[in-house]
Amino acid sequence: MRDQIRIRNVSFHGYHGVYEWEQKQGQRFIFSARLFVDMEKAGKTDGLEDTVNYGSVLKHILEFLENNRFQLLEKVVTRALEDTMQAFPLINEMELELEKPDAPIEADFETVSVCRSLKRARAYIALGSNMGDKKGYIEAALRRIDEHPCCSVKKVSSLIETKPYGGVEQDDFLNGAACVETLLSPRALLDFLHELEQEAGRVREVVWGPRTLDLDILLYDDLVMDSEDLAIPHYDMERREFVLAPMAEIAPFLRHPISGKTMREMLMDSQEPELHS
Ligand code: ATP
Ligand code: CA
Ligand code: CA
Repeated sequence: MRDQIRIRNVSFHGYHGVYEWEQKQGQRFIFSARLFVDMEKAGKTDGLEDTVNYGSVLKHILEFLENNRFQLLEKVVTRALEDTMQAFPLINEMELELEKPDAPIEADFETVSVCRSLKRARAYIALGSNMGDKKGYIEAALRRIDEHPCCSVKKVSSLIETKPYGGVEQDDFLNGAACVETLLSPRALLDFLHELEQEAGRVREVVWGPRTLDLDILLYDDLVMDSEDLAIPHYDMERREFVLAPMAEIAPFLRHPISGKTMREMLMDSQEPELHS
């Protein structure tokens, strides 16, 4: 079993529900939580600072659930998970169950509950710009990412000047990569990155053409997915030195989830393809 702290069956009076009386009078709720925390260190040091204080977490969740009002349990648990994981960075993953034992249902039942879990992921984002104030666009995007309540920028590579890719005649690029810790799903992260590209005034005219800002998701933990408008890992990263050089700088020993090669190995392969073919 994975390391976890469990909090079980905490009762409170809350105001979540679709009906007016539920929002006004409120009713009894019960929550339970599992906190996935790395206990390696605290298991040795015996120091509270090396783990998550479950008393503080319990109070934090309780306060959130008592002081907010939502219609749906789905929404309550989602917001409570986000809020708690933002407040306690050592929680890697968290599961929250919210029970409504007196839910307005005409039946003899013990309880109903909604249970959801949220995981903190580490995403690597490719940064690119080849129009206007390139450095300014990239730096503004990094600031906006870091300001998002569900994202925090952990590392940023040096920005390098590179020749355009894909044969379109255009200005040189400025490229880099960043490591971002996030509670957003891959899809929500992509939507957010698209918003930032829009804010930077990006217009999609030519494929691989000039752009004020291009933000691509390279990796998202060790996730492998390929849907119509989102492929992770990024489909072409192994051929792009302007992606691999920044990645090798910030995460040289990180492995690509399909090939198993480290970023440093991938960079070397991309620089000397003739030696390996
Ligand atoms: P390339 O993807 O070859 O670097 P590009 O970045 O210029 O080209 P865009 O016009 O920015 O291409 O993006 C086209 C679409 O690619 C996006 O709308 C998005 O839906 C899709 N896409 C698929 N996988 C990813 C990913 N990992 N990161 C970002 N966009 C992706
Ligand atoms: Ca791109
Ligand atoms: Ca893109």
